[in-house]
Amino acid sequence: MAATLLTIEPRPIDPSVDHEIQAIVAGASTAETCNTDLAAAPWAFDDRPGYGPGSSMGDVIPTGSPRQGELPSEYREASAEELDARIVAAKRTLGDRVVVLGHFYQREEVIAHADYVGDSFQLANAAKAHPEAEAIVFCGVHFMAETADLLSGPDQAVILPNLAAGCSMADMADIDQVEEAWEQLAEIYGDMDAVDAEGLVPVIPVTYMNSSAAIKGFVGRHGGIVCTSSNARTVLEWAFERGRRVLFFPDQHLGRNTAKAMGVPLAQMPMWNPRKPLGGNDVQALEDSRVILWHGFCSVHRRFSVDQIAKARADYPGVRVIVHPECPMDVVDAADESGSTDYIRKAIEAATEPTVFAIGTEVNLVQRLAAEHPQHTIFCLDPVVCPCSTMYRIHPGYMAWVLEGLVEGRVLNRITVPGDVAEPARVALERMLAAKPPEAPAAAWENAS
Ligand code: SF4
Repeated sequence: MAATLLTIEPRPIDPSVDHEIQAIVAGASTAETCNTDLAAAPWAFDDRPGYGPGSSMGDVIPTGSPRQGELPSEYREASAEELDARIVAAKRTLGDRVVVLGHFYQREEVIAHADYVGDSFQLANAAKAHPEAEAIVFCGVHFMAETADLLSGPDQAVILPNLAAGCSMADMADIDQVEEAWEQLAEIYGDMDAVDAEGLVPVIPVTYMNSSAAIKGFVGRHGGIVCTSSNARTVLEWAFERGRRVLFFPDQHLGRNTAKAMGVPLAQMPMWNPRKPLGGNDVQALEDSRVILWHGFCSVHRRFSVDQIAKARADYPGVRVIVHPECPMDVVDAADESGSTDYIRKAIEAATEPTVFAIGTEVNLVQRLAAEHPQHTIFCLDPVVCPCSTMYRIHPGYMAWVLEGLVEGRVLNRITVPGDVAEPARVALERMLAAKPPEAPAAAWENAS
């Protein structure tokens, strides 16, 4: 649907979600946040397990989840201005020895110090493009730092400033559950390496980039491939050329939205719940399946709803609604467009006339886009301010700590993928790169701020 062009006066917008959450908690704003804990300093929670399924939703976190060690008091007690000055000074001292990467969903106070801003794959490639850097400070979440470690040189240290920054979606598919699912499927399909008369194996495993290195390694070992939200369709086409069906994890929504757009009937997309025998399916449903969807989701993107879209359309007739494909299918269907973070950013940049955009993705990115494009009206579909709370655990205090550690010769919070996992995980990533995405993968944005 074409958006109505409106006369919109450019206005200054504060891109900081933290400022907004602080105002809400202080009673200075009538808006709502999903989690008032976000107004507290993240080190107040460092004694809790850092991440795991539901870590941003308050449900079960697996034992053994990492915890961030205590941040020294000099960083906890420093003012925002002092932390900024220390980060700038440390980066200046380190020069080309360090590259700082900031994910699109990262808080603005961290993005201000990033050399590159992008999605997880763009940032991993930015790391790869700097072989001279001894250290890569990855301001994102755990699986992203793992991917950067897979793609960077063996002598480069990838650092996650706060170990508690995980991804609840990535942790919804753990390696034991996936191995178990594969064994159960093999009981139904037989030899998983055997090709049929059409040259197809029974199942090709496909994992979203938002998964642990262990899952990427599993996929690499079993003839499978990684996808991003930008190239999921290309990757599924690659998989259907090689397999009768796909096992897609961890995000059911990206899998369903992509396969549906390719014409796969919903009836041939059973969901695999790892807590149930055969994932909660009968044998016939699995035999008839084309895409078996893992029971995972993003706690941020599943908040978006058809009602929010209806309200946006009522409030702004002609609004252009763009949502991320991690949103549920009914939301993607009700939107005008769906696409990756990079798609959303480019769509806004390409709009030559003042336009109203309602965006269904993480609020830090939406507010930054609104601030960067004051000629448009850009707002998050979800009226409740609800950032990715695990990524929010990265704060300038942790950045200053790891950067000053590097200045002193100490590598803190290094993320390393073991060799036996890294090798097949790289194979799965290389298959994705060779699958010929429709357009060249976009580069991360060099940060001008
Ligand atoms: S926004 Fe969702 S998928 Fe992305 S890191 Fe946060 S929890 Fe994970």
